[in-house]
Amino acid sequence: TAAATEEEPIKPSVQVEHTQLLIDGKFVDAASGKTFPTLDPRTGEVIANVAEGKSEDVDRAVAAARKAFDHGPWPKMTAYERQRILLRIADLVEKHNDEIAALETWDNGKPYEQSSKIEIPMLVRLIRYYAGWADKIHGLTVPADGPYHVQTLHEPIGVAGQIIPWNFPLLMFGWKVGPALACGNTIVIKTAEQTPLSALYVAQLFHEAGLPPGVLNVVSGFGPTAGAALASHMEVDKLAFTGSTDTGKVVLELAAKSNLKPVTLELGGKSPFIVCEDADVDQAVELAHFALFFNQGQCCCAGSRTFVHESVYDEFVEKAKARALKRVVGDPFKGGIEQGPQIDSEQFEKILRYIRSGVENGATLETGGDRLGNKGFYIQPTVFSNVKDGMPIAKEEIFGPVQTILKFKDLGEVVQRANNSRYGLAAGIFTQNIDTANSLTRALRVGTVWTNCFDTFDAAIPFGGYKMSGQGREKGEYSLKNYLQVKAVVTSLKNPAW
Ligand code: ADP
Repeated sequence: TAAATEEEPIKPSVQVEHTQLLIDGKFVDAASGKTFPTLDPRTGEVIANVAEGKSEDVDRAVAAARKAFDHGPWPKMTAYERQRILLRIADLVEKHNDEIAALETWDNGKPYEQSSKIEIPMLVRLIRYYAGWADKIHGLTVPADGPYHVQTLHEPIGVAGQIIPWNFPLLMFGWKVGPALACGNTIVIKTAEQTPLSALYVAQLFHEAGLPPGVLNVVSGFGPTAGAALASHMEVDKLAFTGSTDTGKVVLELAAKSNLKPVTLELGGKSPFIVCEDADVDQAVELAHFALFFNQGQCCCAGSRTFVHESVYDEFVEKAKARALKRVVGDPFKGGIEQGPQIDSEQFEKILRYIRSGVENGATLETGGDRLGNKGFYIQPTVFSNVKDGMPIAKEEIFGPVQTILKFKDLGEVVQRANNSRYGLAAGIFTQNIDTANSLTRALRVGTVWTNCFDTFDAAIPFGGYKMSGQGREKGEYSLKNYLQVKAVVTSLKNPAW
């Protein structure tokens, strides 16, 4: 497969149309006039120079969102009108599936087949799901003591600030803007500096479909400048963040120090994938491989601690190694490719450092362990066996194609070890025994348990973390409450005796 990365990169079938900031329905340059390059992870070469938003631009975007919320039509429209716009957006995104997928792959490096057949369709499904919620947001009537008629109104919270990462640029965009728009909020979203292109294209389609100006503003730029300005902005009413745990702490503090805006956080993970003794080893190997290697290993919920029962351990390790050796790595625009390059040189170097630390700490390198080819950010699918709980590769997020296999003896032990982590995002269980599945599910302190499946990201299924993996839930009905205020309405009854 090394050869695949040395061929000339395939030319994407799309042009970069939008590189400016999208503020108040118009594409504009940054106030400073500055731009930054976004790179092709296949080669490290510049795809386009993108307007670099900073605090002045965030101010302009927030002012537009503020106006669209306080005076504009969006929160004042009927829910049905909002729903119809969201449905038109979904249709337009669907129509442009292939161009959007090409931009996503070009900027991110993920296989084009994954972008075009899975992720863009998931985005479309998600927008339709939230369109469905737009006209189903109800308050309650409350049986209070005394002569009162009591209701709650569920109102949009206001201007939402949203900060997203680069691993699923458009899915993260959808998870954020979907519930916020359905509830009638306006938005300033800051995309990741590595992957600004697809969101600009899609946000333009939102406007073409009839979203009023100012409702959705997109600012490209860097974390410590644009991101921090958004997190600490006094006119932003709510902050939603997806990224690393360390940056999550920073934005939570900025939110608290400024105006106490409520914050939802979706952060890192080190998710256990538990292969029980009754497992069909071939199936378990395939699912554990997918759980870790999907998206070049760049998933916050990656099954990055593969716990295998001792009775099947040797067979599992041998087959996991064989599977990794068969993984097809190469230009993500090529058909049949399973793995493209990592996102950038920083992540690439970090992953290689973790691989070296695994070797130094005495884990057994079964396969891989180095870069692939001589350009771009490709890494060989790597498998470590004989991994011990205390090693950095078993504790910290590697965010790359590095599987770490650990042996366990009994279920009580594996529960204790799986839970011995600062993270609690997700877990996988592979077993045919329903009691094992149910007991493990209840014992694991994580936000999602996948049994005999992994990475099932239906729009209706809530997602979020326990412990330092985050606060709050995205997707599903649960996400709505992040974007709603509750107003208690208490009216005195003049004639309670009637
Ligand atoms: P990663 O290491 O995966 O890039 P980060 O948490 O650094 O994860 O990045 C996730 C998002 O947070 C990106 O959009 C990034 O620009 C933004 N970000 C990074 N640092 C800050 C910060 N200090 N304040 C606000 N946003 C930030």
